[in-house]
Amino acid sequence: MKRRTFLHKLGAGTLAAGGTLAAGCQPQDQGSPGSAPTARSETFQWKMVTTWPKNFPGMGTGANYLARIIGEMSGGRVQVRVYGANELVPPFEIFDAVGRGTAEMGHGASYYWKGKSEAAQFFSAVPFGLTGQEMNAWLYHAGGMELWEEVYAPFGLVPTAAGNTGVQMGGWFNKEIHSVQDLQGLKMRIPGLGGEVLRRAGGTPVNLPGGELFTSLQSGAIDAVEWVGPYNDLAFGLHRAARYYYYPGWHEPGTTLECFINRKAFEALPPDLQSIVKNACKVANLDMLSEYTARNNDALRSLVDEHQVELRRFPDDVLATIRKMSDEVVAEIADKDALSRKVYESFLAFREQAMAWHDLSERAYLNARGS
Ligand code: CA
Repeated sequence: MKRRTFLHKLGAGTLAAGGTLAAGCQPQDQGSPGSAPTARSETFQWKMVTTWPKNFPGMGTGANYLARIIGEMSGGRVQVRVYGANELVPPFEIFDAVGRGTAEMGHGASYYWKGKSEAAQFFSAVPFGLTGQEMNAWLYHAGGMELWEEVYAPFGLVPTAAGNTGVQMGGWFNKEIHSVQDLQGLKMRIPGLGGEVLRRAGGTPVNLPGGELFTSLQSGAIDAVEWVGPYNDLAFGLHRAARYYYYPGWHEPGTTLECFINRKAFEALPPDLQSIVKNACKVANLDMLSEYTARNNDALRSLVDEHQVELRRFPDDVLATIRKMSDEVVAEIADKDALSRKVYESFLAFREQAMAWHDLSERAYLNARGS
């Protein structure tokens, strides 16, 4: 009898909670018509500014996809309009634009913002750092995301991971790279920490937005370019401006792309929409990595078989030397400020454990599968 009484009470309680919930969907203030709409009927019109050319394969279309699924998942309560590079603000000004609320969201890569915070670079790509799979593991399950939030908090931004390119290519060159000496004097578009490593090797790193790469390379304003990988590089026609296509992309082994959100705009959303926006970013993060993995090889075959691109692997001793330089460059970021040290230490500790595990999982398996 006691159990039945308990269940009865529980049922009544559940009904009461359901009733309250249902009432929440109705105008709560039946006695005062004309008041503000309830949370569930309010809609939000957001702008997303991007560093990518509008509709650019992979990254631009990834931003479009994210905007679309936020609209779908929220039943139209959050509508996001995407702006390509320069449509609303120049590509490298989106960080400030979203911080001040000109747009609610920005789609880019965190290493573009090293001038704002040195630590930001860890959340896109670190030379000889984490692969795409490992980046997601660090961000979602090993403290990386919390650190990223801490780094972006002073700028009024909430960061999310919203895409990953997987391992990139080493770049486009008009001369072959036989030794580290061949990097000396080389003027190359290569952003972030990879650029700093090139500087250490005697080259001159240049940071240019994607839309300017082809003309800069073709005119000879720069000697070499790294952009992403076959799927994106083919779309830009970089094979028409350079002869040699090098691998592996030591400088960007699994670049995370980001969608950062204006904190005030994010906090103005009811909790269910906050969850939808954050989880939509997670879906977009997965989707982009899947897309690159699916498309890159076909694009590579097209570059080699149809466009006669000459594929080259960086020599082992070049990779070994720049690996050593990379470790030095990355370690020096830790000396810049306390937060950079904290991020560096977390990153380094995670890389150690990822290397140990992947040595006998991914690497052992790939070796066993053979070529
Ligand atoms: Ca790149």
